[in-house]
Amino acid sequence: MEYPDRFDVIVIGGGHAGTEAALASARMGCQTLLLTHNIETLGQMSCNPAIGGIGKSHLVKEIDALGGAMGLATDLGGIQFRVLNARKGPAVRATRAQADRVRYKAAIRGMLENQPNLTLFQQAAGDLIVDQDTVRGVATETGLRFLAETVVLCTGTFLGGVIHIGLDNSRGGRAGDPPSNALAERLRALPFRVDRLKTGTPPRIDAKSVDFSRLEEQPGDSPTPVMSYLGSRDMHPRQVSCHIAHTNERTHEIIFDNLDRSPMFSGVIEGVGPRYCPSIEDKVHRFADKTSHQVFVEPEGLDTHELYPNGISTSLPFDVQLKVVRSIEGLERAHITRPGYAIEYDFFDPRDLKHSLETKFIHNLFFAGQINGTTGYEEAGAQGLLAGLNAARRAKALDAWCPRRDEAYLGVLVDDLITLGTKEPYRMFTSRAEYRLLLREDNADMRLTEHGRALGLVDDERWARFSDKREAVERESARLKATWVQPGTDAAATIEQITGKPLAREYSLMDLLKRPELGYADVAAAKGEPVSDETVAEQVQIQAKYQGYIDRQQDEIDKLKRHESMALPTDLDYSRVEGLSHEIRQKLAEARPETLAQAGRISGVTPAAVSILLIHLKKRR
Ligand code: FAD
Repeated sequence: MEYPDRFDVIVIGGGHAGTEAALASARMGCQTLLLTHNIETLGQMSCNPAIGGIGKSHLVKEIDALGGAMGLATDLGGIQFRVLNARKGPAVRATRAQADRVRYKAAIRGMLENQPNLTLFQQAAGDLIVDQDTVRGVATETGLRFLAETVVLCTGTFLGGVIHIGLDNSRGGRAGDPPSNALAERLRALPFRVDRLKTGTPPRIDAKSVDFSRLEEQPGDSPTPVMSYLGSRDMHPRQVSCHIAHTNERTHEIIFDNLDRSPMFSGVIEGVGPRYCPSIEDKVHRFADKTSHQVFVEPEGLDTHELYPNGISTSLPFDVQLKVVRSIEGLERAHITRPGYAIEYDFFDPRDLKHSLETKFIHNLFFAGQINGTTGYEEAGAQGLLAGLNAARRAKALDAWCPRRDEAYLGVLVDDLITLGTKEPYRMFTSRAEYRLLLREDNADMRLTEHGRALGLVDDERWARFSDKREAVERESARLKATWVQPGTDAAATIEQITGKPLAREYSLMDLLKRPELGYADVAAAKGEPVSDETVAEQVQIQAKYQGYIDRQQDEIDKLKRHESMALPTDLDYSRVEGLSHEIRQKLAEARPETLAQAGRISGVTPAAVSILLIHLKKRR
C-alpha cells in the first residue's frame, strides 16, 4: 500500500496551536496531516501546568465554544480549579485550572488519535515546498515529501531556539527537545520579518523536600468550577491544593549579587521577555523597593512529587537558583529536580499576516502560536483553531472567517497582532477588549457556537447541548418576565425577608432580579420552579443584571459599524479635537488612520475616543 503523501491541510508542530489547528481542519472534513517532532510530546505544556486565568480563560472558552480541545482536556486533567475575580463583575471573572500535565497531554493525544480525517506523523519538518509564491507542501528533515493545498506552521519556541542557564547556552526547542534549525533557516530566506523573543521557566522542586507547614495552603473553589461547556465535575480527577510562599530580602540580595551572571543582564540574551510574566531577576531589578514577591507552589500532577514554583522563573546559573530557592521559608531544604532556564527563539512580525492568519507573502501558508509573537497556551490554541479552520476553508476554496473585536477575544487577539505587531511576547488581558461586557467567559458559547456549527466545527452532541441551553435560558427569562409578585403574598414575604424592605407594588420576577441585593436563587424560587442547570441560571442572572450596560455597549458597536468606513481627512489636526486626551491625540497624529474603524483599532484609542472623533467629523461637515 502506498503511504499517503497528499493531504488537504498539513499542520507542522503538535503543541497547543498545532493540535487545535489539526483538529479544527479535520473536524471540517479536510484530510489533515499533523507532522510533529515527537508524538510523545503532543499537547505538552512547556512551562506552567495551568490553563486559564484572567483574559486567558476567555480564549479557552471561545476555543471550546468552537468545538476545540483545550477546555475538555482541562476538565479531564485539572487538579485544582478556581474562579479569579469572583467578587468583581462578570466581564473580568476568569476560571483557572491547575492541570496534571500527564493527564492533560493524554487527553489531547486521545482526542487527536480518535479524530476522523486526521493522520499523525512523527518527523521534523525541514523545508517548505514553495512554488513561486504559493506553498505546496512540506519536506521532512529525512527527505520525505508531503503535498497539500495549505500548510499551517505552529513550531512554537523551536525555531532557532537557544536555551540559557547562567552564561552557558545550548541549542534547543525547550529542555529535552531539539531546535528547528533547518526550518528556521529556510524561513529566514523567505520575505518575512524575523526577530528574537525570549521566555523562561522556573526550577522544579521535589515536594518531599518542602516543609508545607510553613506555606499557606490555597485550596480550589467549592463547588468546583468547570472549564468546558461540555465538561462536568465528574470528569475531574482528584482535586488538590496549591500553596503560597514568599521571597524575602535575603532572596533579593542573592539575586542582586549575581546579576552579572545572568544572561539577561550581561547582554547575552537579546530577545525581549514577557513583561507580564517576568523572571525573578527582572522583578527584583525592576521593583527594587519591594522586599517580597509571592511564589505559588503548584503541583505538577497527581502521580509525581514535582512542584512548579510559579513566580521564580529564572535563567541565573544553577548554584544561584539553588540559593534563591533555599532562601525561601519552607523551601530551606528543597531539592531542585530540574533547573530553570530561559529560551530565545525566532518569531515573525505578525503584521505580515492577514486576519485569517495566512501570510501576506506566501499564499496558502498560515502561521499560528508562539511564532506570531504571543506567549501562552491559550493564545496559541486560539490562533491554531483560527488558522486551522481558515486553512481548511482555503483548501475548500471558501472565504476566510475571523470574528470581529466585538464578537470574541480571538478577534481582539488577531486584530491586535496583525495591525499593531508586537515588540514583546503578547498575552491576553481583559483590558485589551473594548467590549468586555459583551465578551464574557460565561457567554462564549452564546457568541460563537452557532458560528462554529455553520463552519462545520461543532458536532451534533455539542450543538444539541448548546441548543438546549439557549432554549432553557430563553424560556426561563420569559417565565421571570411573565411571573408577577403581588404585595401581601407568600412570594412577597420571601423577597421582603431577604431585602428587609416591603414590596411597595407588584413586580415581575425579572424586575426583582435586576436588584443588586437579590440573586437568581432568591427570586426564581419565590414563585414557580427555578431551573436546576446552574449555567442556565447564571446566564439568566447576568443578562438580567447587566442588560442596561450590555445594550449600551451594543448601541456603541452598532453606531460605530454604521460609520466605520467614514474617512478621516489626511489633514485632520488632532490637537484641535476637543475631549481627546493628549496621549490619544499623539497616537492618532502619528498613525494617521484613514478611517474611523482603523482609528478604533489603534491600541489605547478607546470607543469613547472614536465617538468623539465621529462627533467632530459630523461637525466639520
Ligand atoms: P509549542 O507548545 O512550543 O509547540 C511547538 C510544537 O512544534 C512542538 O510540539 C514541537 O515539537 C513542534 N515542532 C517544532 N518544530 C518542528 C518541526 N520543524 N517539525 C515538526 N514539529 C516541530 N507561556 C506563558 O504563558 N507563560 C510563561 O511563563 C511561559 N514560559 C515558558 C517557558 C519556556 C521555557 C517555554 C519553552 C515556553 C514558555 N511559555 C510560557 C510559552 C508556552 O509554552 C507557549 O506559549 C506555548 O506552548 C506555545 O504553543 P505553540 O503551539 O505555539 O508552541
